[in-house]
Amino acid sequence: MTDSKSGLEAFAGSLRKHGYAVSSFADARAAVEYLCANISGETVGFGGSVTLDELGLYEALGGNNEVVWHWRGRGEEERSRVAEFTVFLTSVNGAALTGEMVNIDGTGNRLACSLYRPRTVYFVIGRNKLAPDLPAAINRARNIASPRNAARLGLDLPCAKDLRCHDCNRPDRICRAMVIHMRPMLNAERTEAVLIGADLGY
Ligand code: SF4
Repeated sequence: MTDSKSGLEAFAGSLRKHGYAVSSFADARAAVEYLCANISGETVGFGGSVTLDELGLYEALGGNNEVVWHWRGRGEEERSRVAEFTVFLTSVNGAALTGEMVNIDGTGNRLACSLYRPRTVYFVIGRNKLAPDLPAAINRARNIASPRNAARLGLDLPCAKDLRCHDCNRPDRICRAMVIHMRPMLNAERTEAVLIGADLGY
């Protein structure tokens, strides 16, 4: 792949062409400052995301917003508040330079919130999520992000052992649905990709 800076620039160009708002930052701190300056007085929902966790966004946004995250609360109680979210943050499992974003989910709350209801959705994306095209982004989601998440969760799944997807049929399979974001959803007021020139999450 081209170097990450030109890769992020190419990705940004493709996203803009597809109608997404895009902001780009050289480092994590600048991205967090930007989000804190632009999100205030909202009910902010968080998708399960190592990227958001590494950025400390739950804590950073908590000063000026009501923040709701099942990773910080009691799980199902936070998930059930989906209808209250005015802003939703998530990352992606794969980002195609051609302008598509791929996410795989087990419970579905992350996918659901990224598609419907919150007025504003932010996709927060580190340079390590880039892939040359949509098949490569899907491959990244399935063979890099999902196995690493299975390992992080300590699940007894084949991918957690060798970090490769076996397309398992296990009852505790975490890959239950996959969404390819091709264009901003029609009912969203703003859908923005926040691109960061650093490795974040899986
Ligand atoms: S389909 Fe199964 S083996 Fe493949 S990444 Fe998901 S949980 Fe792991």
